[in-house]
Amino acid sequence: MNPDSNEEDDWTKYADTGFESSYDPWADMVPATEIEEEEFEDDFDDFEDTNFRSRDIPRCPAPAGIEHTIRIGTCNHCLGRVAGVRIAGDPLDQVGERVRSQALERDPDLKVNDDIDCCPFCEDLFLELALIVNRISAAVDGVEFSKAQLGIHFAKEHVAAEEVLRSTIAATGSRPLKATLSDAVQSAVSVKKPEIVWVKERPEVMLLFDTLTLGVNADVRALFLYGRYRKLAPGIPQTRWPCRACRGREGGCESCNGTGQQYPHSIQSLVCEPMVEFVGATSDAFHGMGREDIDVRCLGEGRPFVAELKSPLRRTVDFEKLTKSINKAAKDQIEIHGLRASNRPEVSRIKETKAEKSYTIRFSCESSFSDEEIITRIESLSGQVLEQQTPQRVAHRRADKIRQRKVISIENIIVEDHEAQFDVRCESGTYVKELVHSDEGRTNPSVAGLLETDCAVIWLDVKDIHAD
Ligand SMILES: [Zn+2]
Ligand SMILES: [Zn+2]
Repeated sequence: MNPDSNEEDDWTKYADTGFESSYDPWADMVPATEIEEEEFEDDFDDFEDTNFRSRDIPRCPAPAGIEHTIRIGTCNHCLGRVAGVRIAGDPLDQVGERVRSQALERDPDLKVNDDIDCCPFCEDLFLELALIVNRISAAVDGVEFSKAQLGIHFAKEHVAAEEVLRSTIAATGSRPLKATLSDAVQSAVSVKKPEIVWVKERPEVMLLFDTLTLGVNADVRALFLYGRYRKLAPGIPQTRWPCRACRGREGGCESCNGTGQQYPHSIQSLVCEPMVEFVGATSDAFHGMGREDIDVRCLGEGRPFVAELKSPLRRTVDFEKLTKSINKAAKDQIEIHGLRASNRPEVSRIKETKAEKSYTIRFSCESSFSDEEIITRIESLSGQVLEQQTPQRVAHRRADKIRQRKVISIENIIVEDHEAQFDVRCESGTYVKELVHSDEGRTNPSVAGLLETDCAVIWLDVKDIHAD
């Protein structure tokens, strides 16, 4: 379970605050008529006694409705939003200001009621635009990004109260507060940071503004890089492996020389640590297309992987320079190539890909057959389907069952004294060591079974992963 996925679910609750932006809020506006007004009032009997409206006040854009909206302390932004006289393209606060001065021309005595302390629609949030913009700028200070998504969190009661008020006195079709504030914040941020592109999915930075605290939280999304690694020396695990003695506790122990790690290096540490430094990330995760055993090398074109670099400060990567610095630092242990930008969906793709693999395997055996007979018998495995019961060495972490895996081809068989080796290409998930030594008869057929003797694996290399 990816720890990020919950987090993303949470964000999506806020992520659609701007969803109305492609819809024309005035499209369904109709002139208010006497009949409609009466029907409307019947529907809203419950609200008759509120301070905001009484039976004889029509809703905006009727002049009496606008005057009432001004008297209850509506700010220019909200007045522009609810008055129903918007001219496309004009900023809402300017529309509101114009509506207010026109109302004052009609009635010079018009003023805000004495007991009002803030705009009843937005609770003066629109007056805080400059502050919100400053907090957003501060939250992403030093972070390289262009695609941002904005989420705004409101108290439920505020949203509910605004909706009641809007449905009571605002012009039909007035836009909700959430969408309007979202647009206003985005426009104001864009003035200061014109390089920002506002998106509705896959942002590089997710910004969450909380209307209660006026706090801004910036979630800098991970950077994903795809590449292939070749493991040139055995003895390196794919991912970091906490020390068995101290379980990787802070500061480690005597048996791990204070590292907290069972092995001094892993593919993950050799690949990701230079990356983390390169992009100013906080931590990393390593996703390989399968993994080889610690004692197995991985050659050929290498194994595809995606490195996940969390909260990076930089997203522009010089792939060639980064590749060189990784390969230089990990000389004779691993090397990478084919580095390029990736994304989270590709992580699932490489984890699910069932690639055929080729191996070179060398083993010892004391067969009494001639070399020609040994070669013929090993060759006979080509094209066969193996039945492999879960090997004893992995039985503690895998379900005990019989899997069928096909041997695609066998080539380059060499027999030398009491040793032999061959190249084998087989289906993803084949246990190759067991194909040779048979795991006490749990793999059938096997080299040991065909040669009618015990076979012991000396070494195994992944020769290639046929991923493309
Ligand atoms: Zn307001
Ligand atoms: Zn330890």
